[in-house]
Amino acid sequence: MEVTPNHTQTVTGWAAMDEGSGKVEPFIFKRRENGVDDVTIKVQYCGMCHTDLHFIQNDWGITMYPVVPGHEITGVVTKVGANVSGFEVGDRVGVGCISASCLDCEHCRRSEENYCDKVTLTYNGVFWDGTVTYGGYSSVLVADKRFVVRIPDNLPLDAAAPLLCAGITVYSPMKRHGMLRSGGSLGVVGLGGLGHVAVKFGKAFGLRVAVISTSPAKEREARERLKADDFIVSTNQKQMQAMTRSLDYIIDTVSAKHSLGPILELLKVNGKLVLVAAPDQPVELPSFPLIFGKRTVSGSMTGGLKETQEMLDLCGEHNITCDIELVSTDRINEALARMARNDVRYRFVINIGGNSSKL
Ligand code: NAP
Ligand code: ZN
Repeated sequence: MEVTPNHTQTVTGWAAMDEGSGKVEPFIFKRRENGVDDVTIKVQYCGMCHTDLHFIQNDWGITMYPVVPGHEITGVVTKVGANVSGFEVGDRVGVGCISASCLDCEHCRRSEENYCDKVTLTYNGVFWDGTVTYGGYSSVLVADKRFVVRIPDNLPLDAAAPLLCAGITVYSPMKRHGMLRSGGSLGVVGLGGLGHVAVKFGKAFGLRVAVISTSPAKEREARERLKADDFIVSTNQKQMQAMTRSLDYIIDTVSAKHSLGPILELLKVNGKLVLVAAPDQPVELPSFPLIFGKRTVSGSMTGGLKETQEMLDLCGEHNITCDIELVSTDRINEALARMARNDVRYRFVINIGGNSSKL
């Protein structure tokens, strides 16, 4: 391993070492010393996003091994650099998908750092100093102050962790496309980590929400716990037909290859579908449901820092957290295997240095 002069802090983490295993293993590595603009965070919890699995398995062909996944990180500040004024030791903070950007382009100036063409992901990215970034499946994180957010006091650090990716990834397009107005109708395709937060946001903002799922077993929880108004099994033609042209918006979170055709038919004329999922194979996009319904398909990549803080503050106000299964660090591989077979309700969160699910 190449040694960078100021990378002197020894950290324990969990890394996938190669593409064959689909697993992580304990991994000791170095992080940089806390710089003048940095905060050091004792990681308490880290959510397990399906993106972690895509990277561990090298689904997209871009993984740099060893990869320490994790971009739904919450914890407590233990050190602040000399130029840091916004954070103090003891603050409850979070870090999401992004750990650096150019800070100067039109996107960075608008706090859309996620669309900067020099964006550095929190793991499997290349940082300003040329080193590869390691994520939150680790005991300690060093983060530039501009890429750190505050967790509202009333939100527990474990159930809030997935908001750092799942939350902002659905909030950002919901806001951009005007979905956060009551009275509209929203379809959420795929009831997993991202999907279940989209349902919660939809209900908090007064939308009528339909879940479109491949898992009939999720219906009861979707309706009773998450307060979804409708639940459609996507393989049930009759149910799908009954919902034709009924929705203003759809958020598609399905992590596997699928066709947008039948889903687009659920949109009203002029309806909008936002694809946030990133399957390793291209999704099918037949033109007829697009052109006959004057419908729009767009994409969205996580969110900027300002918007992430705004989303967290709203979650604080509305008391929105994620439905999680807390796992210990010796059960990460078990959780990955369950995620791979779509057996999650609705996000695994690793207890790395936290004590309990209480505040
Ligand atoms: P997840 O928790 O695993 O949920 C994905 C859902 O997709 C599952 O719960 C399941 O819902 C459905 N699904 C899974 N396999 C399927 C299959 N073979 N056919 C049909 N439906 C299937 O994943 P997640 O963490 O929410 O992430 C979802 C996707 O978004 C991933 O591809 C991830 O990489 C991507 N992502 C993108 C961004 C971004 O910035 N755009 C950010 C985070 C994640 P049902 O059981 O209800 O069918
Ligand atoms: Zn994610």
